[in-house]
Amino acid sequence: MSIFTGVNVVNGEKDSSMRYHNITKDDMLNGDGLRVVLWLAGCTHCCKECHNPITWDPDGGLPFDDAARQEIFDQLDKPYISGITFSGGDPLHAANRLDVRGLMKEIKTKYPDKTIWLYTGDSWEDILHYPVMKYVDVLVDGEFKVDLKDTKLLWRGSSNQRVIDVQASLKQTDPANPVLHCGDYA
Ligand code: SF4
Repeated sequence: MSIFTGVNVVNGEKDSSMRYHNITKDDMLNGDGLRVVLWLAGCTHCCKECHNPITWDPDGGLPFDDAARQEIFDQLDKPYISGITFSGGDPLHAANRLDVRGLMKEIKTKYPDKTIWLYTGDSWEDILHYPVMKYVDVLVDGEFKVDLKDTKLLWRGSSNQRVIDVQASLKQTDPANPVLHCGDYA
């Protein structure tokens, strides 16, 4: 028996509008340079000691509307802003994936020189074929593992996670063997 939920699912992507919790500005902790960060709602990874469990519910937060989109564009208009980071929650949660792809496409068209970073609990090997990857410059992948937590790591919380140069990795003969973006703190 199926129950109508008002949400269509195609290829694991739902066509409902994504929701978000926050847009932070002049952020130095989630990627290179000064960035605008979009914190999306929805995550199914349930990592132990997740720093942001309030974001797990895909129905939480606020609808991502035109005012929120404009707030992001106003930041990206500033020459000193290096780019945008998508975080959460998980931007690749099924409720977000389609809208995230559309927004990234818009940003890459409008701001070709700004970088796009993406944080996800998914592993690179499982998502490298997603169409959204053509817009991503840097991916921080994998679930947060508290037993592998290390504060000396750059841009990531636990040592299983990787900071991946997505476009260089996709050019590899074997893209599943990722090219890393950078080293860690000394
Ligand atoms: S993937 Fe991120 S937001 Fe989701 S449970 Fe893990 S640490 Fe929390």
